[in-house]
Amino acid sequence: MSRSFDYRPSSVQVLFGEGRAAEAVADALDAIRSSKALVVLSPSQRSRAADVLDRIEPLTAAVFDGVEEHVPAPVAEAARRLAESMSADAIVSIGGGSATGTAKAIALTTGLPIVAVPTTFAGSEVTPVWGITTDGIKRTGTDARVLPKVVVYDPLLLRSLPHRLSINSAFNALAHCVEAFWAQGANPVTSLIAAEGVRVLAQGVRALAIDQAASPAVEDLLYGSFLAGTAFASAGSGLHHKVCHVLGGAFNLPHAATHAVVLPHVLALNAPHIPDAAAALASAFGTSDATAGLVELAVLAGAPRTLSELGINATQVLEAIDLVVRALPIANPLPVTPAVVEDLIWAAYGRPARTRTFGQRRPSEHTGETAP
Ligand code: NAD
Repeated sequence: MSRSFDYRPSSVQVLFGEGRAAEAVADALDAIRSSKALVVLSPSQRSRAADVLDRIEPLTAAVFDGVEEHVPAPVAEAARRLAESMSADAIVSIGGGSATGTAKAIALTTGLPIVAVPTTFAGSEVTPVWGITTDGIKRTGTDARVLPKVVVYDPLLLRSLPHRLSINSAFNALAHCVEAFWAQGANPVTSLIAAEGVRVLAQGVRALAIDQAASPAVEDLLYGSFLAGTAFASAGSGLHHKVCHVLGGAFNLPHAATHAVVLPHVLALNAPHIPDAAAALASAFGTSDATAGLVELAVLAGAPRTLSELGINATQVLEAIDLVVRALPIANPLPVTPAVVEDLIWAAYGRPARTRTFGQRRPSEHTGETAP
């Protein structure tokens, strides 16, 4: 069979290693000749990343720690104003996807280079994807200016990540790998990276599920999150990410937990339509069935399984369905009709679909659903 594909390797410089962050960030700022960096922090990192902050203090002009999940537009504006007022010449982000996302919001309008130090498994640090939420609607886009120049992965900084957050964040990374198998830019290289990402992430989740203090698990998960972000950056995303962004933007749901809930349902509806990818995923999970492998891992790890667990009610399910339907067409192996969206979101909510075949009912059959 002949091969035909496009693949553009990323320009990000990646440094990985326990205890490397302080020196590596200082070196990166030197290399880009920065002496007035704006540090963007998850509030939790002020004390935890003290070594990094102390080391780069002479190169730092200010610290912004007003980071919030899903990057609300007023937060992006406040961070941009600070960067402008101090004439920042670079951004150092230290924290989860929300800190990276805030740094990206600044870079989007200023073009400032980012040095990113991730402290969760979100993977945003290796993607050119930004997201900003205005009045409950999360807009996302792709722009080369927001792709960090240097990423420093230091497992030491993730040892403080609470167990529940680690598990949920690992499922966010798994979602990047899984969707990378069929997203529009998928190619043999991204599939290879995504398969190894799933293998390493599943290994890390299993180790953490058995022993919450399992030290090698953090390194596996961080390495897996890098692979996941790399595959996602190149392959792109689709229905799964759209649903998670709608839910996160509209109801301020925790991003990682939302991924953990939605992913098995998106995989279940697509797996029959992508037998080769499903077989590769199953093999990466170490099982014969991809969806069963993912669900087994979620159960073992105690990951959240329903949107109702995350605090969503039935009225909000209807709102979410409406918002996703309005975003159609969305590329996906199984063509996405309004009925598919309805089945998917109700199933993720925890109300089993009345038929097992996704998208076979007429949308009007759901008009009897009422909010409890
Ligand atoms: P987050 O950054 O909001 O962090 C979750 C919580 O964990 C916060 O309270 C934070 O302070 C805390 N925290 C972070 N690191 C910690 C550590 N090492 N120890 C203890 N506490 C720690 O959540 P997230 O899931 O990492 O990121 C979610 C955001 O990232 C969303 O806005 C999502 O859209 C975005 N995201 C973007 C991309 C992309 O490619 N653009 C990819 C993934 C996620």
